[in-house]
Amino acid sequence: MSRLAIVAAMPEELQTVLDAIPDEAPRQHGGRTLWCGHWQGHEVVAVLSGIGKVAAATTTATLLSTFEIDAVLFTGVAGGLGDGVQVGDVVVATELLQHDLDASPLFPRFEIPGRGVSRLATDAALSQAVAQAATQALATRGPALAGLCTPRVHQGLIVSGDRFVSSASESTALRQALPDALAVEMEGAALAQVCHDFGVPFAVVRTISDRADDTAHVDFGRFIDEVARHVALDIVQGTLDQLR
Ligand code: SAH
Repeated sequence: MSRLAIVAAMPEELQTVLDAIPDEAPRQHGGRTLWCGHWQGHEVVAVLSGIGKVAAATTTATLLSTFEIDAVLFTGVAGGLGDGVQVGDVVVATELLQHDLDASPLFPRFEIPGRGVSRLATDAALSQAVAQAATQALATRGPALAGLCTPRVHQGLIVSGDRFVSSASESTALRQALPDALAVEMEGAALAQVCHDFGVPFAVVRTISDRADDTAHVDFGRFIDEVARHVALDIVQGTLDQLR
């Protein structure tokens, strides 16, 4: 039996996962509540990362030093950056980068000092399983998402930073600096760095809640409640099914 960790940024997202774990029991460690239980034949540990890179990094380090974890799955929402990445779409990361990391001129912009790289790859097989689960989830939820065009699954670069990107000028600057970035959020690249340190495979999946522009904050809470947390649940469930 493998043990999978599920990390969510916001309480609403975590609660939906916890509701699906019949026997979840809390364990306190490092200021975090780690919820242990069983789901679809797997041992699972679910945890709230909190918002931002530091919260995500400390949560992931606490998680991976407390339990033997075979794989980590981060689910959450993000702002769409890439052309054609629309609200309601799902982005599965193939790699992650910190868009606000800049130790130049000592190191090239975005490079993680001491690593010689700016981008960290996710686990290819796990990410593929997540993408398949996401495709299935959108097909099933499609009718409920009417009005959001036909939602699609994208795979590629997700960028993270300690800012909620909510102006057209900021998202334009990000697109210019990182033309292949599909989505922007606040945790993924931090979790990626810790998983790399621990040598644990991981995947990051995000439902697009906004276009990271001047309207990014509009209906954010409602989107989480009505769309994102349900899509995330389907994706986690579909991924667990495939790992069986
Ligand atoms: N208004 C929310 C703010 C949440 S912060 C609240 O009151 O709770 C945004 C969360 O969604 C973070 O976890 C981040 O990873 C993600 N996110 C969604 N859209 C984003 C954007 N445009 N820029 C940065 N992060 C975004």
